[in-house]
Amino acid sequence: MTDTASTVLIVKNANFIDGESEDARLVVQDLVVRDGVIVERGAGVAAGYHTPEATVLDGTDQLVVPGFVNAHYHSHDVLAKGTMEEEVLEWWALLALPPSFPPRSEAEIRIRTLLGALECLRGGITTVQDMVTFAPFDEAQLDAVVEAYETIGLRAVVGPQYADKAGIGTRPFWEETIPAEHRSKAKSFAEPDPDFDLLDYLEKNHFGRKTDGGLVSWALAPTAPEACSDELIARTAELSNRYELPVFTHIYESKSMALEARTHYQDYGGSLITWMKSMGLTGPRVNLAHSIWLLDKELDMLAETDTRVVLNLLSNLKLKSGVPPTSAYQRRGISYALGCDNPSCSDSQNMFQAMKLTATLNAISSRDPLPPQAWAVLEAATAGGARAIGRAADLGKLDPGFVGDFSLIDLTDPSWLPLNSAVRQLVYAESGRGVRKVVVGGDVVISDGRSTKIDEAALRGELLEIMPRFLDDFGAARGRVEVLRPYLQEAHRKVWACDVGVNRMLNGA
Ligand SMILES: [Zn+2]
Repeated sequence: MTDTASTVLIVKNANFIDGESEDARLVVQDLVVRDGVIVERGAGVAAGYHTPEATVLDGTDQLVVPGFVNAHYHSHDVLAKGTMEEEVLEWWALLALPPSFPPRSEAEIRIRTLLGALECLRGGITTVQDMVTFAPFDEAQLDAVVEAYETIGLRAVVGPQYADKAGIGTRPFWEETIPAEHRSKAKSFAEPDPDFDLLDYLEKNHFGRKTDGGLVSWALAPTAPEACSDELIARTAELSNRYELPVFTHIYESKSMALEARTHYQDYGGSLITWMKSMGLTGPRVNLAHSIWLLDKELDMLAETDTRVVLNLLSNLKLKSGVPPTSAYQRRGISYALGCDNPSCSDSQNMFQAMKLTATLNAISSRDPLPPQAWAVLEAATAGGARAIGRAADLGKLDPGFVGDFSLIDLTDPSWLPLNSAVRQLVYAESGRGVRKVVVGGDVVISDGRSTKIDEAALRGELLEIMPRFLDDFGAARGRVEVLRPYLQEAHRKVWACDVGVNRMLNGA
């Protein structure tokens, strides 16, 4: 008997991937979601759930795919997409990130968060991990971020970034290269705020509270380990254990970050991983974004401790950071997820691009044959992301007991004709063009490619209103830091002259 008070969504006669490999065939089945959770999937099962109130989606010629988890993202620079060509990571950070900007308005925070979320959803992303930076922190602005995600219907794991060391002290050669009068302009992804204890605020207001079934949950986000003291890393580990929170941080994204480790963590064999382990910050709740310049012994430690990785090829290439050793992660069985990273350097929140780039760049990392990649990266973009946020048991798959997060992709699109391998065509052929409907928690949030939750035209109107101010501030910020460019270039050249024990640039530079 069906409980009439519950919310039921039925997808009828849709196509599902039957298996976990590139050879998996499609099967036609129904999927039933009740109160946000999948209760049944199988041929003809919908008949038992029809009520006048049930929402029914016709799945004919549609492929149902688990919602993607965009496991590394920053909503703070959504408005800066398309503003740059290739730039070195450390220089790009000065141009694009909150520490270089004057405080933003609450309206801008809301609009940019909605816009980024809309782009995610329209590409079949149903969960995002947002390492958002506020400079300075503002309670109302964090609330605006949460409200935006709830409004548009995107699941979000929000982790405001923090650090207690100034960027200037964590970048090799900056202090000796940049003249004293300019050093205050040289900043990193997030800067310390000595007047505000962000972790204390988050613990009192969010970590300790139940989320009452909402779409937003929390993560700890130390911006980069080398930007944090021993005390802050230990505190992060303690909070993660006490509240069972995932941790996200940037590690070994650039050669400069690797050199910082080799130089200033010599007591730990020049290894941030060894140091973090000694502080209790390794293990399955810890996610290391980028993870490009790791030594072999550090890769082994990730495997031994079941510490996770989030790969972000889209930004790594444009920021000249290097190519992560994807096949080394695969060989060791290290769990990895995929992210699309900052809008100002990846320019798109598109997991199809992320999957294809991960698989194809991996191909040229080895002269020898690799195992098939398409299923591996699809798994990373879905279940791998669920593992990253601590939800392997109820998110990222289309089985009973899992949340009803998925998209319907149009199999009549040319990307799917002829249909030879659903898994390969999802990874190598689909661009996102075919995403027609997106469901989060059993709620249809995108229909015929448009949001059902917000007025997209009104959002575009509001965007036009705030852009002149943003562009003024963006230009002014660029002007302020321009004086640093030759010094950063010199520091960059010095970094490249050093040996960090590994090379992740394709040309061997
Ligand atoms: Zn990042």
